[in-house]
Amino acid sequence: APAETPQVVIDAHGLPYLNSKLPVKKRVADLVGRLSLEEKAGQMTQAERGAVGNGGDIATYALGSLLSGGGSTPTPNTPEAWAKMIDAFQLRAQATRFQIPLIYGVDAVHGHNNLAGATIMPHNIGIGATRDPGLAERTGSVTAAEVRATGVPWDFAPCLCVTRDERWGRSYESFGEDPALVESMETVIQGLQGRADGRDLSRADKVLATAKHFVGDGGTEYGSSTTGTYTIDQGVTKVTRQELEAVHLAPYQTAVDRGIGTVMPSYSSLDILGDGQGPVKMHARADMINGVLKGRMGFDGFVISDWNAIDQLPGDYGSHVRTAVNAGVDMMMVPYSYKDFSAALVAEVKAGRVSQKRIDDAVSRILTEKFRLGLFEHPYADTSGAADIGSAAHRAVARQAAAESQVLLKNSGGLLPLKKSQKVYVAGSDADDIGNQTGGWTITWQGSSGNITQGTTILQGLKNAGGDVTYSKDASAATSGYDVGVVVVGETPYAEGVGDVGNGHSLSLSAADQAAVDKVCAAMKCAVLVVSGRPQLIGDRLGEIDALVASWLPGTEGDGVADVLYGKRAFTGQLPVTWPKSEAQLPINVGDASYDPQFPYGWGLTTLTRTPEGGAATLRALGIAASAADRAGADQAGRALVTKARLIVQAKVGQKITAAVAEPFADADHLLLTGRYGAAVQKLTEAYRAS
Ligand code: BGC
Repeated sequence: APAETPQVVIDAHGLPYLNSKLPVKKRVADLVGRLSLEEKAGQMTQAERGAVGNGGDIATYALGSLLSGGGSTPTPNTPEAWAKMIDAFQLRAQATRFQIPLIYGVDAVHGHNNLAGATIMPHNIGIGATRDPGLAERTGSVTAAEVRATGVPWDFAPCLCVTRDERWGRSYESFGEDPALVESMETVIQGLQGRADGRDLSRADKVLATAKHFVGDGGTEYGSSTTGTYTIDQGVTKVTRQELEAVHLAPYQTAVDRGIGTVMPSYSSLDILGDGQGPVKMHARADMINGVLKGRMGFDGFVISDWNAIDQLPGDYGSHVRTAVNAGVDMMMVPYSYKDFSAALVAEVKAGRVSQKRIDDAVSRILTEKFRLGLFEHPYADTSGAADIGSAAHRAVARQAAAESQVLLKNSGGLLPLKKSQKVYVAGSDADDIGNQTGGWTITWQGSSGNITQGTTILQGLKNAGGDVTYSKDASAATSGYDVGVVVVGETPYAEGVGDVGNGHSLSLSAADQAAVDKVCAAMKCAVLVVSGRPQLIGDRLGEIDALVASWLPGTEGDGVADVLYGKRAFTGQLPVTWPKSEAQLPINVGDASYDPQFPYGWGLTTLTRTPEGGAATLRALGIAASAADRAGADQAGRALVTKARLIVQAKVGQKITAAVAEPFADADHLLLTGRYGAAVQKLTEAYRAS
């Protein structure tokens, strides 16, 4: 608690809503019954923390929420400073008539990425590559613990976007292109919030989570702008009703079932083919927010708008406000226009264009989460977990996630794993850069190259592993005398629309990166690691590369990447998105009628030779349902079973078993291929072996 004593305006003691023994429902009803229209409008308003100065407006406008968002003024740099800042705001809220605590929100999308020294996880695209729901949950637990320990009870994550076109600059915020994969990673919600019934939310290591961006944010069309510039971010998603349900809506039902506390609508527009409406902004879609989310799916938390999103709605300001509120948006993220918003909302209610009932519903939903979070009992930061921020235990989770997220795309001659006896030449723009490795949404909204926070670069990880490593960023003097070259290339950080291809970005490697690859691969056997938020076009260059790894944006723990490179852990990652041959193929997704990618969805070689826990565990980890006989066989022949599992994955996704697919498995000890897919795969693989 802050040193200053809260100024108690009324003696609320004895009022039912302050009695923590009463059920939340009763407390909410009691409090809502006491609030004025202006106070209700205040609860529905979220302001940017820098905009409220020293916080005087919190009491003046009875504000319900504050945030530090991507577009916010820079945030404090230590856990103590965060807690102090939020406590000072909370003190203001405690000086209001009913002492309703503020709910403070941040975007902690891969760890507490607003805080230097926090544990930074791989971005979601890498988490999707792990295919490990248990691990996804643990990353959520670490994030929640680090966020709540700085006094923040609310996280605008996870993104449930199903990315369908990697030209979208937010592709890395997605777990992948397949809704089933996205759904399987939603264990992260339990990591963040705890039990599905919300009973864990008051814990000092849990936060309220946000499923975003509802709905279809990952399905926007490329180049669909009327202005001539590319607006795949915040653009239009044109889908049939069936595709909308199966691809984009399905992950939200899972989130609701997991007790998600808040949902954020998307900036994008939805155009349901054949319904005659044309594209309509999601913040105006009553059919989706009221109808599907709150109605059919039974979502009982609250809906928070995206940043200034209502300003994109048609009409005058009053119309923005009533359209969004009547569509079902409960709290408005109006960072700098909070005064206008609450005044306009009050006016709309008085004019009868927004009903009292709707307002009471919105406020009840918001207050319910505040009660669940225990904010009325403990409005101030509980920093007891602050010592664990960036701790060894937390970093161990991020390291495992980094390791499991690595996808081995090609491995000619078994170049990987590296051996400690080898002389290794390391080069490339992303080998020794913590900023590039963590990507956007790290310390600042856009992220930036360079030494922006504590962590271990991939180069440092290789050294820590005891490798015999020589490093030259631009590959100067990459001549002879080395056994293997490791070239780490890829993207520099970006966030949201900035990353859109056609908007100064492409999916091709930079000229400097291409030169580094060419130089090193011409001089020695080479492994190329691609550090990026999405596939990069390798094209013809693939021939000159011996081993290729999709490293995604692995976060602060470069040791995890080194773990798989040196074989301390096996490569087990699988592509969460299709890896295209060319930009002309985009959008390309598994299940497309003509599907001829460079590497298919689900692809990923393994360096697993024995399965320590037996083959059955491996099958489970790979998400393959196996018969009892398979499991018994698996325990005897782990490697063959892994092989089998992977082939089945390929076959299931309709990939033809071409030479490229069969080659890595051709030297498996033996194959045990049975069942519907197995028999076909067995035949093709044997034919390949014989050829
Ligand atoms: C993004 C959201 C984010 C919000 C607050 C918006 O620009 O679309 O994902 O939660 O900003 O930072």
